[in-house]
Amino acid sequence: MINTSCSNVPYYYGIKDKVRLPFQDLDYFNQQFPKISKEKIVNESKNLENPFMKSFVVHATSGSTGTPLQVKVSNRAESYRIANRMRFYNWWGLDFYDKHVLIWRSLEKEASFLKNFLKQFQYFLNGRLNIDVFDLNADTIYGYVKAIEKFRPKYLRGYKSGVLEFARLMYDNKLKIKDSKIQLIIVTSEVLLIEERRFIQDVFGVKVANEYGAADGGQFAFECPEGSLHVNEESVLMTTDNMNNLCFTELYNDKMPLINYENQDKVIFSEKGCSCGRTLKVIDHIVGRTADYIDCNDGTKKHSLIFIGMFNELQIKFNKSIKQFKVIQNGNSLIFEIIKDINYEPSIEGFLRKNVNTKVCGELKVLFKYVNKIDRESNGKLRYFVKKTSNRIRK
Ligand SMILES: [Zn+2]
Repeated sequence: MINTSCSNVPYYYGIKDKVRLPFQDLDYFNQQFPKISKEKIVNESKNLENPFMKSFVVHATSGSTGTPLQVKVSNRAESYRIANRMRFYNWWGLDFYDKHVLIWRSLEKEASFLKNFLKQFQYFLNGRLNIDVFDLNADTIYGYVKAIEKFRPKYLRGYKSGVLEFARLMYDNKLKIKDSKIQLIIVTSEVLLIEERRFIQDVFGVKVANEYGAADGGQFAFECPEGSLHVNEESVLMTTDNMNNLCFTELYNDKMPLINYENQDKVIFSEKGCSCGRTLKVIDHIVGRTADYIDCNDGTKKHSLIFIGMFNELQIKFNKSIKQFKVIQNGNSLIFEIIKDINYEPSIEGFLRKNVNTKVCGELKVLFKYVNKIDRESNGKLRYFVKKTSNRIRK
């Protein structure tokens, strides 16, 4: 793939003169081959294409890191993506073509009625029932539960926040799926917390499996029934530096080769194997994205998971005080968007302010905004922490 890229992809033409080809070992490749960032891919997208390859598949990223991106994937790399998914379903006793529910962002409507109709018909043939994350609320949940009962899917897959919201709405409205055939819940795209996994499992009465991937990088890893996240090593090369920054290459994508792509995810690999006997490398945990870190004035960074800890503590101290929250960092300010619960007390503001001063950083200004609804990002994902502008803060 490196040889093809250096010969046929304009972006890599110059690299041939800077490195020794072919690479003797992986260490040399990791150290010597330049890294590529999302920004570079956006700016150089035309130069990154192999013009001689005429057949490919286009994948668009949702823009969760701020910039939507289109990546062209060779048929061979796409086949590996599908094969990885087929193998994952097989681990769980499911089949690729089993009926399923997809909780996702609204799929773009086609301009013509006929095209829309054909799209819906295609989903029907694929055995898929679509649920729009933007359309999940107390008024629609009853209808969705009924639709699932009628559809009888074998698994449910979706954004973690979408699946979690579905479970919360079912729980709040005392709903159950009657005669459910669901064997597995698959969550993706957002970090899954232990308590969230437990809650979803309790509501649906089946296990939750995590999948980790990116439209621009392929399927990285899938969770096995023993609970380990196994890397799809046949089709993706993943490494990390000493700061746990992920660097990966989707092998076989010689239509648009993204070699040594640093997508700002932070990952920790496990030193141990898995009791399931599969020898594929195991991810111990996904720490999150660089964008998940709170910037302090002195240049230090704190992981935004600290807010989850704060809100867990708050729930213990003041039971049923807050339904949902989101923290927005805007320069030196942290804005807490809060949906109040029945036991809300104004002293909660003091509790959070003190926690930010002692656990995050003292110089951040803490503001509160009470809302009835926490809005999803435009890509349909729900984030509990977002950074509006970080460039005002010294890095
Ligand atoms: Zn395993």
